[in-house]
Amino acid sequence: MNNIPYGRQDISESDIDSVVNILRSDYLTQGPVLPAFEKIVADYCGVNHSVAVNSATSALHIACLALDVGKGDIVWTTPITFVASANCALYCGADIDFVDIDPQTYNISLESLTEKLALAEKVGKLPKVIIPVHFSGQSCDMNGIKLLSEKYGFKIIEDASHAIGGRYKNKLIGSCFYSDITIFSFHPVKIITTGEGGMALTKDSQLAKKMRQLRNHGITNDIKEMQPYSENEIWNYQQIDLGFNYRMTDIQAALGISQMNRIDDFVKSRHEIAVRYDKLLSNLPVTTPWQHSDCYSAFHLYVIRLKLDLINKTQRQVYDGLRADGILANLHYIPVYLQPYYRKKGFIVGYCPNSEKYFSDVITIPMHPSLAILQQDFVIKSLRTILVS
Ligand SMILES: *Cc1c(COP(=O)(O)O)cnc(C)c1O
Repeated sequence: MNNIPYGRQDISESDIDSVVNILRSDYLTQGPVLPAFEKIVADYCGVNHSVAVNSATSALHIACLALDVGKGDIVWTTPITFVASANCALYCGADIDFVDIDPQTYNISLESLTEKLALAEKVGKLPKVIIPVHFSGQSCDMNGIKLLSEKYGFKIIEDASHAIGGRYKNKLIGSCFYSDITIFSFHPVKIITTGEGGMALTKDSQLAKKMRQLRNHGITNDIKEMQPYSENEIWNYQQIDLGFNYRMTDIQAALGISQMNRIDDFVKSRHEIAVRYDKLLSNLPVTTPWQHSDCYSAFHLYVIRLKLDLINKTQRQVYDGLRADGILANLHYIPVYLQPYYRKKGFIVGYCPNSEKYFSDVITIPMHPSLAILQQDFVIKSLRTILVS
């Protein structure tokens, strides 16, 4: 049997055709397909504005800049995320801090957040922006976070890189009902893919406009924003801010449009796989993912916690055992503040105990829509052999 990755893309013949069509067309980038993709995703999520970019990392960066994050500001996120959720604050010259996770959902803990905000207010160090991450595709407690934002005046960027197609309180993730900006990733292991790609969604037309400019070097095409060099000398563009080339190509957008046709099927397949794992793992010494009744997860990841006191193996031995069988298990995530780069900033072991406990016993097993039943059975069989021998 071939190796079984923890996640991978699902590409159909019509996905391929839609990309090939662009290669035969007039525009490979900045053509008509990009705005069409933006509109499809925005309409799907029920939000007014969407700005497609070349990665979720870029989307996080311009989202922070649009919310005026800069030197002297503080941004908070969760340690159990991909490093990009924290790096974006540092790109803007701001400081980053971390709030521990909830031991049941592995999302940012509302209890820890509430306590940390009260302390921060006392010492005058409240965050300007908080970036909750919908870990594995299950929404954070956005209602609770929004209420806190009203009390303490911070802005919210949802890092929904795992979560397109998921819901919270019957609203699609990306509606921005509880946040200022929501970010998606279209990396191949995520729910839909454009090869590389990301998007920032918002209800706020000013934020959208700012992010559009930042995506394209800080250039505007809006005459009203331009300063005339002399009375009759206004050309078709002006740079009015310092931006980047974070553009998504039409080749990528075409793939995105085609993938959006199957998004609900992708998420449905992920749920079927999760239900089957839940059942087949129920008599093994592991904890399967807990689901809150407010949430319909997009199930980007399927993580299990090893009950190490009942197992004759270490976490590393289980991980290596799966890999030896060609099952490319993974670990999502090493707490960001324990990365060497962050350790140099002074973060220490013990900073977020629930995150570190999680890190000590978690394993990601394969989850993607094209995972076959036989492959899933093989994963279970291998895991059983490793855990009970
Ligand atoms: C994948 C991911 C990102 C970064 O996405 P890219 O599109 O690869 O830049 C950011 N945050 C989280 C939580 C992710 O999983």
